[in-house]
Amino acid sequence: MSTKPIAVAIDGPVGAGKSSIARAAAAKLGFIYCDTGALYRSVGLYCVRNGVDLKNPEAIAAQLTNIKLEIRLVDGTQHVFLNGEDVSEEIRLPEISMAASSVSAVPAVRAALLDIQRDTAAKSSAIMDGRDIGTVVLPNADVKIFLTAAAEIRAKRRFDELAAKGKDVKFDDVLRELNERDYADMHRETAPLKQAEDAVLADTSELDFEQSVDLICRIITEKTGMR
Ligand code: C5P
Repeated sequence: MSTKPIAVAIDGPVGAGKSSIARAAAAKLGFIYCDTGALYRSVGLYCVRNGVDLKNPEAIAAQLTNIKLEIRLVDGTQHVFLNGEDVSEEIRLPEISMAASSVSAVPAVRAALLDIQRDTAAKSSAIMDGRDIGTVVLPNADVKIFLTAAAEIRAKRRFDELAAKGKDVKFDDVLRELNERDYADMHRETAPLKQAEDAVLADTSELDFEQSVDLICRIITEKTGMR
């Protein structure tokens, strides 16, 4: 007898810890983890590599027929393939973040990425994170969480992460980039970042990583009646 997969939608602003917290919660609960930002980043990467004007929505939309994206699990971890090439590492470069935000405002890009996200969630119980998962991609998700923290705290965490990797960055630049990207994501016309009406608000400003993972697991187990 097959049981219906459980879908968990986690949305929130830049640097709320969505991916690391969602990945750890998924591992604890035996769900797959799907990072939808990786898809927008891959489209952004394609446009950057091919010199597409990121201020020109028509030019971006025109590239979609040249872009084939696939999500594959490699040793239980999500990898994204852009036209057959594993770009999972390269899409993390900071310069791709803003490109991802630019392409994500183009309605044709959002429409093109809907099926791949829904197909992934239909296959097995999943925690999917992004900006519009609870509002647009999986409006009937079993659990919806809006994960956030104060902007300065999110920027500090991101700054510490980059500094630990030996990146020479300034805190003020990290905070400014984070605020710019959130502003763009919240004010675009199509599928803006916002808390779904039926989402639980999880603010991790005062929580460390383990506490945040526990909070997310607790919300999921309580909402779904899982043991
Ligand atoms: O989550 P991440 O920072 O990797 O996402 C990169 C960008 O992709 C975001 O700033 C946002 O513009 C876009 N995005 C989106 N909808 C999603 C996931 C990401 O618009 N579901």
